[in-house]
Amino acid sequence: MDVNVKDYLISRGIRPSVQRLAVMTYILENRIHPTVDDIFSALNPNIPTLSKTTIYNTLDLLVERGAIIVLDIDAKFKRYDGDTSLHAHFMCDSCHSVSDLEIKDTIFIQSNIPVGFTVRDVQLLYKGSCHRCSTEN
Ligand SMILES: [Zn+2]
Ligand SMILES: [Zn+2]
Repeated sequence: MDVNVKDYLISRGIRPSVQRLAVMTYILENRIHPTVDDIFSALNPNIPTLSKTTIYNTLDLLVERGAIIVLDIDAKFKRYDGDTSLHAHFMCDSCHSVSDLEIKDTIFIQSNIPVGFTVRDVQLLYKGSCHRCSTEN
């Protein structure tokens, strides 16, 4: 098991159980912004005791402690991201893949917040056709 992931969880005040380590490691190693179903299908063959409920509870805890972020960009499913830094996403209309986009101009993000408003979360979403789907047409 990856020692760094263990330390990462501990630094966030999360007890690193085998199941939590498995979920966190999967999210960090698979930068696909997975859904609960993605995580379940990937981990269940190796850890049959890992139920979907446990995954939901683990994800809630990881989000609450700031270890991962949850994306509301998909109307049907929540997606989870191990990259907690500010970045944008590109969601493909055809294959529904979600890619990371670097934000080059953070001034743009910080501007236009009226006095008295407190920002809790910023989600920047681009939609269209990914490079794979674009070349298929
Ligand atoms: Zn696509
Ligand atoms: Zn991302």
